[in-house]
Amino acid sequence: MGVRAHRNRLHSHRFGNDHNTQLRNAHELGVCGGTVRKVIGLPGNISACLFDLDGVLTGTAVLHKKAWKQTFDGFLAERDGEDFEPFTDSDYQNYVDGRPRADGVRTFLESRRIALPEGAPDDPPTAETINGVGNRKNELLLKVIDQEGVDPYPGSVHYIKTAYDQGFKIAVVTSSANGKAVLEAADLTRYVHIRIDGVVITDRGLRGKPAPDSFLAAAEALAVRPNDAAVFEDALSGVEAGRAGKFGYVVGVDRVGQADALREHGADIVVTDLENLMTGSVSDGR
Ligand SMILES: [Mg+2]
Repeated sequence: MGVRAHRNRLHSHRFGNDHNTQLRNAHELGVCGGTVRKVIGLPGNISACLFDLDGVLTGTAVLHKKAWKQTFDGFLAERDGEDFEPFTDSDYQNYVDGRPRADGVRTFLESRRIALPEGAPDDPPTAETINGVGNRKNELLLKVIDQEGVDPYPGSVHYIKTAYDQGFKIAVVTSSANGKAVLEAADLTRYVHIRIDGVVITDRGLRGKPAPDSFLAAAEALAVRPNDAAVFEDALSGVEAGRAGKFGYVVGVDRVGQADALREHGADIVVTDLENLMTGSVSDGR
């Protein structure tokens, strides 16, 4: 089924937690062989791939950034008048990208010395609370996704399919509460054994990225040691989580020209597209 065909199904999904089914599937996988599978460009001990979603598998990071900018610029304009200091790309990269929604709101507002009450997760998008502002962003995001659809990166589709066919265990680890729907819309669900998304993170009380908890939960569910798993991330908070969890290999995916920052925050290697790992047109300096 084509990507666009999935688009209209986005809103009909219940973003529920079918974690137990996923766990069962992962256990049925059994133990992966320890052979070196150079074809996807990872060290020989790696048997599991833990992919971030937005910006790594799908082009939705751009949509998130757009929705955040609209949300924060509206908020700041209302608060400070037309001389407000707009939300920038570097604000997005340093304070918001990769983090759970409420953490992103809180971290960015703290950087501007603005304190809001937390509110509750089901606050309406009009509420002047951390959760209210976050829900405003989510409402905008769903509108943008509905208008523009979800396109996976062709290089990432090739990569995840090859990894899957080669017998790697595969998890998607995303702070997004829309992880399930985005995977479906991008037609990637079939390659994913375990999904740890914003819904699972909240249900299980895990700390969001840059803490390593969500990646560690994925490795545990796949029954691999962190050292035998590779993390794929486009966010500074995400590569930081990969390093903090002592994962065997941290691949930084640079879509916006922040290769140096990705390395500084914990990437062992930086590529502009996952396909580059397969063709070997990268150097990790090790
Ligand atoms: Mg991302």
